[in-house]
This record gives sequence, structure tokens and C-alpha cells, in this order.
Amino acid sequence: MRYYDNVVELIGNTPLVRLRNVTAGIPAMVLAKVEYLNPGGSVKDRIAVRMVDEAEKSGLLQPGGTIVEPTSGNTGVGLALVAQLRGYRCVFVCPDKVSQDKQDVLRAYGAEVVVCPTAVAPEDPRSYYNVSDRLAREIPGAWKPNQYANAANPRSHYETTGPELWEQTEGRITHFVAGVGTGGTITGVGRYLKEVSGGAVRVIGADPEGSVYSGGTGRPYLVEGVGEDFWPETYDRSICDAIVKVSDKASFDLTRRLAREEGLLVGGSCGMAAVAALEVARDAGPDAVVVVLLPDGGRGYLSKIFNDDWMARYGFLETGGAEPTVAAAL
Ligand code: PMP
Repeated sequence: MRYYDNVVELIGNTPLVRLRNVTAGIPAMVLAKVEYLNPGGSVKDRIAVRMVDEAEKSGLLQPGGTIVEPTSGNTGVGLALVAQLRGYRCVFVCPDKVSQDKQDVLRAYGAEVVVCPTAVAPEDPRSYYNVSDRLAREIPGAWKPNQYANAANPRSHYETTGPELWEQTEGRITHFVAGVGTGGTITGVGRYLKEVSGGAVRVIGADPEGSVYSGGTGRPYLVEGVGEDFWPETYDRSICDAIVKVSDKASFDLTRRLAREEGLLVGGSCGMAAVAALEVARDAGPDAVVVVLLPDGGRGYLSKIFNDDWMARYGFLETGGAEPTVAAAL
């Protein structure tokens, strides 16, 4: 019989898929690392299992313990998957601006979700940072992974994602492109690829316009999961050779094209990273092998990026140029 003992064993070893259409006119090869094929649907499964493993080893997380983390998205799903299998309770804290759908996904995996008001200052005791700190202090046996400061985050990429890319490309990868949120992905993968290639692989971060990594102050942008208004410990500033700044509009346009032209229904940070990858590939020679990491799937964004009304409301869709549809002709 051929089977996996549990879903956690399905984490990692994601495939590379060549982008064939959005790359028209570009001689370099562009390959996408498709992370939505992880069991929890995102790259964050990788750090979740690694952070839990290390907390168990160091004794920070004991049998029957509780995982408390301020997260509303992918990291929560990854942690919930691992927690379930190993008998931990999960409490996630999120601001009330987080969509009902996202809260429901976490509850579906058996996690408890505590919702806090968005419209209060970070130092307010009701803010979601403070509530998660308080719960981590007050719940007996609680452990807070803190993905922004946990060395197991970049390490998981140094030990899995990086080596996978080197093997899958038979050492021919010339450029690695990824969005930067906690910085764990770019730091871990970038460090590994630089070491194994003797510094030959170029590492390029993609960042939303307004975020600190590309010189901004944290000004709001709509692409989710990437960019910051502070410098996390998990980001090593010495790894990136360049940072490409990408607008929301360019990110969402390409996100939609990846679904329509490549059959890849992915999230907005994927479109953002792909914009940067195409820019890099355009300047690279025909022998270049550019790999872009696509962190998650697009189902969580159907009512936003893939919704024409939402796109038009924010000025991301040109009006008047709507394509004729069968529905309009009836
Ligand atoms: N895209 C999405 C959708 C994410 O959730 C994250 C993680 N915050 C990233 C990109 C960035 O990855 P990292 O935290 O490793 O920099």
C-alpha cells in the first residue's frame, strides 16, 4: 500500500511549473514554485511544523499545551494542522477587519479565534498584539511561536525550500525571487542558494509599494501577507541583491493573468512576486533560470482580486473596456 501516515507528511516537496504565457517575449526560463500544493494551502505549513518541532525539543511546548499566535491567515492554518495531529489546543487572535471566511477556516480546523477591535492603538490593552500577549501569559502551558522573531522560520526554508530548488533545477537556478513578509522565505532560501552556488545565485525580494523593505514607511497597500511597517528579526538584510517595488495594480493584474493564462489560481502576493520575476527575467540572458515562489492559492481572494466590482472600486480595472460575455449577450 502506498500512503502517507498523516497530512503533515505532505508538507514541502512542492513542484516547479514553467510559466509559458505571461513570459511571452522573454528568452529566460521562468519557473514557479507552487506552494499552494502544501496540505494547508500555503508556504506557511513549512514554518509551522518546524516551529512546533523546535518548541517541543526545547520544552517550550509540552504535551497538552496551547499554541497562541496573532494570525488570521496562512500561518494559523499551518499551526492548526500540526496542532490537531499532536493534540495541542490553538488560540488565534486577529483584528476584526479580517474577513469572516478567514476566521471560519481557522475554526473549521478546530482552532479558537479571538477577535479584537481594529480601531484601537497598538498599545491599547484591547489591541490584538496585547490580547495575544496576555493570553500567552495567562493560559497555562501556552506557547507563542512568534513567526516574526522565530529563527525556525528562516531555518525551515534553509533546510527544505532551498535544497529542493537546487535539486529540482539540477543546480541551474540563476535567480530566486520571492515576496518579503516576515522575510523568512527570502532569508532562508537565499542564504542556502548563495552558499551552495558559491554566491552565484542572485536573490531578489519583491515588496509592495509603501513597505519598509523598499524604502517606504509602511503606508497602506492592499496586497496581503507581504511588506511590513517594521524590520522583523527573521529578515536578514544582507541576503537580497535587489528589492523590486511593485504596485497593487500590477500585482493584481498579474495575479488574474496567472489564473487565466497559466491555470494557476494564486493569491495577490504571488502576482506581486511574479511581476518582479518577469522584470528580472527580462534583463537576464536566455540561459537564465529564474525561480519565483508563489506562497498561496487564490480561493481566499475570490471576493477581492478576482471580483470585478472590488477591483473597479479601487481603480484597478480600466472601465469601458469590459470583454463581451455570453451573459451580456442574452
Ligand atoms: N505571501 C503570503 C500570502 C504570506 O502569507 C506570506 C507570509 N507572511 C508571504 C507571502 C511572505 O513570506 P515570508 O513571511 O516568508 O516573508
